[in-house]
Amino acid sequence: MTRGSTPPGWYRSGLDHIWLPYAQMKTARPPLPVAHTEGCHIVLADGRRLIDGIASWWTACHGYNHPHIRAALERQLATMPHVMFGGLVHEPALTLARRLADLLPGDLDRVFFSESGSVAVEVALKMAVQYGLNRGVRGRTQFIAFKGGYHGDTMGAMAVSDDAGMHGTFHRALPEQWLLDLPTDEASSMALTQTVERHAERLAGIIVEPLVQGAGGMRFHDAAVLQVLRRIADRYDLLLIFDEIFTGFGRTGTLFACEAAAVTPDIVTLGKALTGGSLPLAATVARRKVFDAFWSDDPRHALMHGPTFMAHALACAAANASLDLFEQEPRLQQVQAIAAALTEGLGACRGLPGVKDVRVRGAIGVVELERIDDLDGLRTRFVAEGVFVRPFGNVIYLTPSFTIDEGELATLTNAIVRVVGAK
Ligand SMILES: *Cc1c(COP(=O)(O)O)cnc(C)c1O
Repeated sequence: MTRGSTPPGWYRSGLDHIWLPYAQMKTARPPLPVAHTEGCHIVLADGRRLIDGIASWWTACHGYNHPHIRAALERQLATMPHVMFGGLVHEPALTLARRLADLLPGDLDRVFFSESGSVAVEVALKMAVQYGLNRGVRGRTQFIAFKGGYHGDTMGAMAVSDDAGMHGTFHRALPEQWLLDLPTDEASSMALTQTVERHAERLAGIIVEPLVQGAGGMRFHDAAVLQVLRRIADRYDLLLIFDEIFTGFGRTGTLFACEAAAVTPDIVTLGKALTGGSLPLAATVARRKVFDAFWSDDPRHALMHGPTFMAHALACAAANASLDLFEQEPRLQQVQAIAAALTEGLGACRGLPGVKDVRVRGAIGVVELERIDDLDGLRTRFVAEGVFVRPFGNVIYLTPSFTIDEGELATLTNAIVRVVGAK
């Protein structure tokens, strides 16, 4: 198709039957029809190529259609796309579980697979509640969660996400949790300690996105915060859950964010970049002491969870291929180079009218504005610049593939500087 031509037939006939994510269907601008993806490019049905600044919600860390992942998928497809995981296991899943256990710190070595990050969070919350029940401790069912946090869109995950964010509508329909400020200073640390002290007998755990709160606003905090959480969790026998669905696999500069803090959580959730953006897969990984609480002769002590497509063989093969690439290619160095280029490129936004903050951590670059009035209009302006950038709330952010080249990255940052400057 050529520029400006009418959209394809499948688009015109299907659009009235699709329900899109996070969209007011009445007023949202029509979505862009994509023909294919390649490296860091999204190619539209009319032939336009957009440089991708988001890597499909942070998943496509090696770029799209990486030949190594594609070859692994083709091999796995020829033998077995999927088989149920109840009573059966297969090589891709067990190899992946062993590799994740090797990569994660400490004794985080039991891997429970699911198909989406939200489900991985639900499983983590269930593990934490049952961890108490299995040890004869009743009533410890609530969680400490943090303002600015986001943990997914299912009911349990929404309940531990910031209720001022996108899930505010559901606020009253969800089981009550404790939503506090991250312990970034003396006062907030004191407030957290006091809340935990007062309500410890009702609390199962603490859940946090380590170092970077993603979908809640791309906010950063120091590693010291995680050390405070570890100390409080230990003192009051709470399980510490790190939701690394966004931060995992190099995004913040280390393979996992928990490494930067030298803190081992009791449970970690992984998703997003786990398969290099190719297939849905998530994991909830528990430390030995968590697993041990379920190890019993009593069938009621078992973890009663089992997604239909658990440990999908194709997805596990893709994840193994993605881990190969982290081993074989200099991904973490690429993240450092991206951080430097983002700092340099987005720095020009500092001081522009309406800009509140510019910040970079790893391969995450954020320009926070005082406010964004017309989100859809802003998104359209980026498309006109030849880039795919998807601002939300009051932030414009970049989370590109780690394989993006200097020129492509400069096109992204220049587009942001131009669009923000023209506001
Ligand atoms: C995206 C995300 C989730 C939810 O994952 P889905 O696969 O969309 O269900 C949970 N936690 C964090 C930190 C995320 O970034």
